[in-house]
Amino acid sequence: MESSVRVEKSDRERHRDMEMNESVWEQNVRKVVPYTPGEQPGNKDVIKLNTNESPYPPAPGVQNRINGLELDKMRLYPAFPEQTELAEALASYYQIGVDQLFIGDGSDDVLSLAFMTFFQSGKPILFPDITYSFYDVWADLYRVPYERKALDENFCIRIEDYMQPNGGVIFPNPNAPTGILMGLDEVEKIIVANRDVVVIVDEAYIDFGGTSCLPLIHKYDNLLVVQTFSKSRSMAGMRIGYAMGNRKLIKYINDVKYSVNSYTMNYAALQLGVESVRDAAYFEECCEKIIKTRERAEKELASLGFTYPKSYGNFIFASHNRVPAQEIFERLKENDIYVRYWNKERINNHMRITIGTDEQMEALYRALEKICG
Ligand SMILES: *Cc1c(COP(=O)(O)O)cnc(C)c1O
Repeated sequence: MESSVRVEKSDRERHRDMEMNESVWEQNVRKVVPYTPGEQPGNKDVIKLNTNESPYPPAPGVQNRINGLELDKMRLYPAFPEQTELAEALASYYQIGVDQLFIGDGSDDVLSLAFMTFFQSGKPILFPDITYSFYDVWADLYRVPYERKALDENFCIRIEDYMQPNGGVIFPNPNAPTGILMGLDEVEKIIVANRDVVVIVDEAYIDFGGTSCLPLIHKYDNLLVVQTFSKSRSMAGMRIGYAMGNRKLIKYINDVKYSVNSYTMNYAALQLGVESVRDAAYFEECCEKIIKTRERAEKELASLGFTYPKSYGNFIFASHNRVPAQEIFERLKENDIYVRYWNKERINNHMRITIGTDEQMEALYRALEKICG
């Protein structure tokens, strides 16, 4: 399990052969291999357990806010996110200053800007070999060199791998797509070992039973914690993500954002997000429901012959003891049940199953009984 190193030129080298047949303008195009998102089935009625969306609707207050949206406001450019009710609501919920918070167009936007802003040393940044597959895409796009550190045989991050000189560190906690949670003390050890670079902890799934490392932003000025409305807040379609960290970090990422696109967030998202943050009870209830369904799913999947690491996300990363994951994935799809499968080294016999409603999960178990029974 060797770590792979990729540097600035490798992308171009891969395209050199192709360039022989390219027109001159084409040779000077920025060529990237884009991220592949989970399939969106369009209008087809399927049980969608493939992109870690919440099966529950957004907070009830969101509907009221939709009814109150003002047509005339759409004529105007939206407010700057940091000067909105949404920023105030988030800052008060997390008990931080508004100037310790950056809000963007989904956490993919926030993370992409963070790559552009903080990973400029020219030294390789570090992240796990099995992780959110957008990290290497942004690194390639922004010409940031990187090294992928192999997870151990149980898919756990080896913290000692992050103790070498580097240009920055990023990892999700819990990790994706494994769902494995790292303890707060281990996260802190990684930060302590990397005081000269920015450490980004991607907490997209932290609300499903993990403990956020957010309090550490007051202790370490190089820590950026990124969260999203897409999973635990049932608002993937509104595209709201945010980062929390030291004021200086937030200022730097804002400077870059205002150099790319001043108005990344639309008026409706800024308005509707507020209601989710204000309704803490509904938010906690949804997370609790998903955790309970996940615990039931673990038992059901085990009895069907699956193994999986203990998940702290709204998904389970499962492998069957007999039937190949790709076959299960395809057969489920024929039954209009979508899960996620990657034909990638080390994980090509696993599939990631998003936790849906209890009814959706029952349908999944029944289909799996037929496929694996
Ligand atoms: C889903 C996800 C994101 C991105 O979510 P947005 O919808 O862009 O907010 C970021 N990181 C991880 C690990 C994710 O799984």
